[in-house]
This record gives sequence, structure tokens and C-alpha cells, in this order.
Amino acid sequence: MTDQAKTGWVVIAGLGPGDEALVTQEVRDAINGATDIVGYIPYVKRIAPREGLTLHASDNRVELDRASHALEMAAAGRRVVVVSSGDPGVFAMASAVFEALEAGPKDYLDLDIRVLPGITAMLAAAAQIGAPLGHDFAAINLSDNLKPWSLIETRLRAAGEAGFAMAFYNPRSKSRPHQFARALDILREACGGDTLISFARDVTKPTQEITTVALKEATPEMADMRTMVIVGNRDTRAIGRFVYTPRSAAGATS
Ligand code: SAH
Repeated sequence: MTDQAKTGWVVIAGLGPGDEALVTQEVRDAINGATDIVGYIPYVKRIAPREGLTLHASDNRVELDRASHALEMAAAGRRVVVVSSGDPGVFAMASAVFEALEAGPKDYLDLDIRVLPGITAMLAAAAQIGAPLGHDFAAINLSDNLKPWSLIETRLRAAGEAGFAMAFYNPRSKSRPHQFARALDILREACGGDTLISFARDVTKPTQEITTVALKEATPEMADMRTMVIVGNRDTRAIGRFVYTPRSAAGATS
């Protein structure tokens, strides 16, 4: 390892769902100590420019290039923060950095690399809704960019039939609008039409909107890529403006 590499580091940090009050202190400290910020354009825009800080914003499709770039800069002595929204380990950059580490030169293993958690959209959305994830749940990414759609259908059906509440990231994009309609059909079959589904858009931002309906009334247009979708289990219920899932499942013995 070179002397330069000993002073460099990479922090993979989560910026939370949007509200600046939800950025953790350790993430703020890392950003304040950084020489370089790497990330997808809208996330890098959240970082205030300052002297001595270089912002490297890139398109969403180049995660691995971005990760390798971050490691190269750290090896050259730079202090790099790779930013994700929410939590960096949830459908985000932390895995990409470790993939790049695995594919890179062996001495990258000696670099100072840390992952700093953030509040993921699922938890921020659940808190606004009430407590829809109060019992067992599954988190599923509905984008088929990095896995086949058939696998998503299998997992949706299995999770629904097993009685998990579910949280869906990337529910519906313009390039694949029919898939979310198909997902709703599978959920109605697996969970029953009376199960509650919540759509939480722009959570913790001034434009936040939350809507809850029964699955039989849900339409694909209720979701887009700025929405977190949360489906309850058969015990999930509404109380006033809140939706919650009881702590105990039907059939529990204690
Ligand atoms: N690492 C991120 C998730 C990246 S995937 C995290 O932990 O939150 C991007 C998806 O997250 C979006 O398509 C949307 O489904 C969800 N998402 C992110 N921020 C959101 C917000 N403020 N409100 C609602 N959904 C959000």
C-alpha cells in the first residue's frame, strides 16, 4: 500500500429519504471531511458546494464505474463519500462498491472503507403511514433492471402467500408500466382484495402524499418511481388516519 492510500478513505453514506433533519450526524461529519463526493446526479445535488470539495455526479446506469472511480481516488489519497438516497445498503451503492472491490486490485482491500447507514424510504414511509410493518415483512425491488421479471413474480406470490407485509421500491417506471398492473393482480390473488395497500410519494418532502386503499381498489397509476408502496398482511387495519399491523399474528399462542 502506498503512503497516499493510507490517508485516503471511502465512505458509502445514506442521505435519508429527503428531509435534511433525517441525515445522521456521522454522515454530515463524513461529508464535511471529504475532498470528493460521488453519486447519482439528484443525490449529489443535495450536497452544498464548498471550496476544496469536488462533486462527481453521474447517471444512474453507471454504478460500477462510479464505485471503481471512488476506490481509485481513495487509493490516490482522496477522501471520498459515495452518496445514496435512503440507506446505501438498500438497492444502492454499497453493494456496487464491494463488487468493484472484488474486481479491483488486491491492495484495495487495505483501503479504509466504511458504510454509514441512512433512513431507508421504506421506514420513513412506514412511519408516516403508522406502523404497517409492525409484524414480519419483505422488502422487494420491483425493477427488472438487474433481475428477470419472472423472479419478481415468484417472490411477490411467495411473500403474499406466506403472510408477509411487503414494501416495494421502484414500483413503476414509464418504460414498464404494465408490470405494476401485473404485480397488483398477483397480490390480489395471494393476499386477498381486502388487504390494505398504501402509496407514499415524496416521503418527508414538502410534496409528500399518502394514500391507502384496499387492494381491490388499487390502480397502477397510484404509483410511480417516487413512490414507496406498502402492502399489509391480512391483519393490517386502519384506525383513524393511521394504518397499522398488530404485534401478534392470528393463531399466535402467546
Ligand atoms: N437506497 C434507497 C432506495 C433506492 S431505490 C433507500 O434506501 O431509500 C429508489 C426507490 O426508493 C424509489 O423508486 C422509491 O420507490 C423509493 N424512494 C426513495 N426515496 C423516496 C421518498 N422520499 N419517498 C418515496 N419513495 C422513495
